[in-house]
Amino acid sequence: MAKRTPIDAGLFAGSLDVPRLRGSRCRSCGETTFPAQKGCPACTAQGCEEVALGTRGLLWTWTIQHFPPPHPYAGDADNFEPFPVGYVELPDGLRVEARLLGCDAASLEIGMEMELVLEPFARDEDGHEVVTFAFQPVSS
Ligand SMILES: [Zn+2]
Repeated sequence: MAKRTPIDAGLFAGSLDVPRLRGSRCRSCGETTFPAQKGCPACTAQGCEEVALGTRGLLWTWTIQHFPPPHPYAGDADNFEPFPVGYVELPDGLRVEARLLGCDAASLEIGMEMELVLEPFARDEDGHEVVTFAFQPVSS
């Protein structure tokens, strides 16, 4: 398998072999944020601790994106194919926006269980697979 590298060094906690999103939790009020931040957006305390977020959550809402994301969009804007995006609510109540894989408008249902997956995004100049994150329905 080609070596994988994250699209952003701060996106994941630990190894990509067991992908977990890297968030932060406020030591004062307990607010959890993603992406990780040093300062708390809820109470402005500094020095949040890093946490590895849960990998499963419930689909909070979703839509189909029918137009290419704005510049700088790395995909092929001329041959853009609509895709589902949504918010997945993790067990601590944090909602994470992500592309949704392995599903379409007919199969998506608010409240369904979703799991974190890696999505190949591009290849860098060293031939490494650049990955970002997405969620897909938990296969039962
Ligand atoms: Zn706080």
